[in-house]
Amino acid sequence: MSIEQKMTSLRNELREHNYKYYVLDEPSISDYEFDMKLKELQTLEAEYPGFQDPTSPTLRVGGMVTKNFETVPHEHRMYSLDNSYSKEDLEDWEKRIQRILGDAEVEFTCELKYDGASISLTYENGFLVKAVTRGDGFQGDDVTNNIKTIKSVPLQLKGDYPSKFDIRGEIILTLEGFAKMNAERVEAGEDPYMNPRNTASGSLKLQDSALVAQRPLECLLYSIAGDNLGLTSQFEVLEKARVWGFKVPAVAKLCKSTAEVMQFTDYWAIHRHELPYETDGVVVKVNSIQQQEELGYTAKSPRWAMAYKFKAEQATTTLNKITYQVGRTGAITPVANLAPVLLAGTTVKRASLHNADQIAKIDVREGDTVFVEKGGEIIPKIVGVDFTKRSVDSEPTKYIENCPECGTELIRKEGEAQHFCPNDIGCPPQITGRIQHFISRKAMDIEGLGGETVELLFKEGLIGNYADLYILTKEQILPLERMADKSAENLVNGVQASKAIPFERVLFALGIRYVGETVAKKLAKAFKDIEALMAASEEDLVAVDEIGERIAASVVSFFSEPANVAIIERLKSYGLQFSLSEAQLENQTELLKGNTFVISGVFETISRNDLKKLIEDNGGKVSSSISSKTNFLVAGDNMGPSKRTKAEGLGVPIISEQEFLQKLNV
Ligand code: AMP
Ligand code: ZN
Repeated sequence: MSIEQKMTSLRNELREHNYKYYVLDEPSISDYEFDMKLKELQTLEAEYPGFQDPTSPTLRVGGMVTKNFETVPHEHRMYSLDNSYSKEDLEDWEKRIQRILGDAEVEFTCELKYDGASISLTYENGFLVKAVTRGDGFQGDDVTNNIKTIKSVPLQLKGDYPSKFDIRGEIILTLEGFAKMNAERVEAGEDPYMNPRNTASGSLKLQDSALVAQRPLECLLYSIAGDNLGLTSQFEVLEKARVWGFKVPAVAKLCKSTAEVMQFTDYWAIHRHELPYETDGVVVKVNSIQQQEELGYTAKSPRWAMAYKFKAEQATTTLNKITYQVGRTGAITPVANLAPVLLAGTTVKRASLHNADQIAKIDVREGDTVFVEKGGEIIPKIVGVDFTKRSVDSEPTKYIENCPECGTELIRKEGEAQHFCPNDIGCPPQITGRIQHFISRKAMDIEGLGGETVELLFKEGLIGNYADLYILTKEQILPLERMADKSAENLVNGVQASKAIPFERVLFALGIRYVGETVAKKLAKAFKDIEALMAASEEDLVAVDEIGERIAASVVSFFSEPANVAIIERLKSYGLQFSLSEAQLENQTELLKGNTFVISGVFETISRNDLKKLIEDNGGKVSSSISSKTNFLVAGDNMGPSKRTKAEGLGVPIISEQEFLQKLNV
């Protein structure tokens, strides 16, 4: 097989796997196998730029940067939808339709109304050529590079598609994907995003498409616009779009009467919470396209479609007081304390107000009557104020300027929504928050000790930081409230047992800002012990794969604080793990220390990933491009001529797979 044939066959294979995984939800190979094939293709594409393909699956990983999104016209206007809120509204709509259509029979297609960002995709001869946001309906922003990274958007269609058409749909984040993204952000000390919809639409306007590629976005399609498409009904549109390779949700129903439509809306008003994404209603469309054309459009929306909005789970209550919570990293969260109210089956007493901007935006004040809603988030939110009920002497909310817990003046960094209390050493909730993080399951996992006990121990003056946990005695703890003999013993034993927790988890437990679980693992692996990590400069840190400047600065600043160093010294003296264990160090040497490698081509006895690991385990570094700092180029089969020329030009030695392995005597 020629190189070009090999590339084509890899591309076809990867396309099919993407389709199975992202459109059909039926993967047939493991993620690992997929990654290996994708890497192989990436390598070949880098080596043979002559064999590019604008629809290659490698485009899905992004990397294109868009500085300014160009505004482009929609060839076919993107309309809004009229809203209805009751059975009566829907029946009135049906009467209006019947008046125009005479007594012709009308069927309806019912679909869910997905809550995301609308998008219009243009396909020509089966290829995705353009993706444009809705904008004002007449023109939108060209976000093609970003959309190409969404795996359920086909870059190339299957079957018998029209030669040119626009297809419309919604870019969404699944609830699971959204929750996962937020968990990672919180772990890294960043603010969580507010809701899936805004996050999805914000994602479309990220400048770096590689970041878009990392977000679990999906694209659900629901309508087609174009000339002479030969389609006769909306239901057929959905079926055809599915055949051409688009992701079309399975929930859609052809209804013969408004009574059937109501059955559909009633069913989904309840069952919508079982769906993996957010919906805010049902869209009812006249099924026949000929009838749609007869009905036409108003200035804003089609007469042949109607959105039926689910009743938001909303309640009205009084906001008694705004209080402020201080998190482990010092981040301030304003909280609305409410007169208890029943909402979606639970009593709600508190709601998040997010930050100062949000308070100003909805102009919410103490004493106001507010609307509380439960959306995709777990914590309810205040969506607005009933201004008619506001008392005349009400004053705008003045956001606090000092920490409610320690009095320190708050700071707000450029570009951040949250205020912070900078007194990390002396601010009580930051101290207990750090200890609570330290003992948590993914960190030191201390059995027999919970968050409330930490607060109690701190209040009683028994602990002031996490090192103090290790000198607690049973006798000290016993007098505490609700502390039985057995639980005191469990606590002390739990603390002692945590001394065996491996280095990377200890590192995570320290609570360095932006050092989440994954980053801690990377740092532990790269530096091997705490001394080396503490001695590392920002430059050394950034040299580690995937460690950016923000993390590097945070690590250096943490270790430059004498109080932190003192605590680490104490933890060391108690016997915690501050270096990788023998087992972890096994097969790791310093043989390649100080050497930077570039690997290129396809290898015979070892996969690229294993080769990379081998270099890193032996103290070497792997870089993706050749520069004067490269010590060796490890060349596999089919290495591109440009790399060779560059290496030769810079005098970088080119070694084979065998020569490399000999260096390590393996
Ligand atoms: P609105 O923004 O309230 O005017 O509602 C119109 C928007 O609903 C459209 O622009 C689409 O983005 C969105 N939408 C979500 N699901 C559907 C669907 N199944 N059919 C049509 N529009 C939908
Ligand atoms: Zn404080």
